[in-house]
Amino acid sequence: MNIVIGVLYAIYGLLVGSFLNVCIYRIPRHIFWRNAHSYCPNCHTELKWYELVPLFSYLFLGGRCRTCHERISLRYPLVEGGNMLLWILAYITFGFGWYSVALCLLFSLLLVVSAIDLDIMEIPNGMVLTIAVLGVAPFVASFFADNGLPSTLPWWGYLVGVAAASVPLFLIALATRGGIGGGDVKLMAALGLFCGWRVVLLGAFFGVILGGVMAAILLLLFGKNRRAMMPLAPALALGTVVALLWGEPILDAIAAMF
Ligand SMILES: [Zn+2]
Repeated sequence: MNIVIGVLYAIYGLLVGSFLNVCIYRIPRHIFWRNAHSYCPNCHTELKWYELVPLFSYLFLGGRCRTCHERISLRYPLVEGGNMLLWILAYITFGFGWYSVALCLLFSLLLVVSAIDLDIMEIPNGMVLTIAVLGVAPFVASFFADNGLPSTLPWWGYLVGVAAASVPLFLIALATRGGIGGGDVKLMAALGLFCGWRVVLLGAFFGVILGGVMAAILLLLFGKNRRAMMPLAPALALGTVVALLWGEPILDAIAAMF
């Protein structure tokens, strides 16, 4: 591990995290290509460069807009800091190489998907398609020896991955009619191509447990009328991130027991 490269991952993670906030705000509103400048969502004042420095601007401005003093959503620094943390973890776990860069991009896409799903209870098809396109990279790499992948899964393991978690989720969605949406099923299909069948199954397993725990907590806090109001994608995304970062050793330990 090289501290200079690690710091570069952190800085780029922070800068990309700032761009992710733009994506989270603009994609559901279909205004992605309109008006290149960033502005306050409350008073629409154009933001100056020093109001756009990731994390630091939020702290420097005390979490309020400089013009209208409206509270800035805590989501902005959380997304920026969260993306930075994910990029650092990808570097620490897998070192510098094409795989950790691809992982960073995937983590950022999952952050955007999770935030949009929390906002509008929907996963844009374009996001799922982008994840699927990114997933072609590990699949193609698996044909080659010395490919930089953390697992020795053969190429067909990635194709099986497309169905490994998505088909069971689809069946559960049919059986329960609620909680799991079509977007969640498509997301796990796209993630399966990137992860391969072992890691995507573990990720879905973690995600469903996490989603269940979160739903139970919401039920306890807010009562029955919040039923089926919790989007599953953030839990599936977090579960898959954990499985991608630390899944291989966990799976090897499970395999060694049999
Ligand atoms: Zn404002």
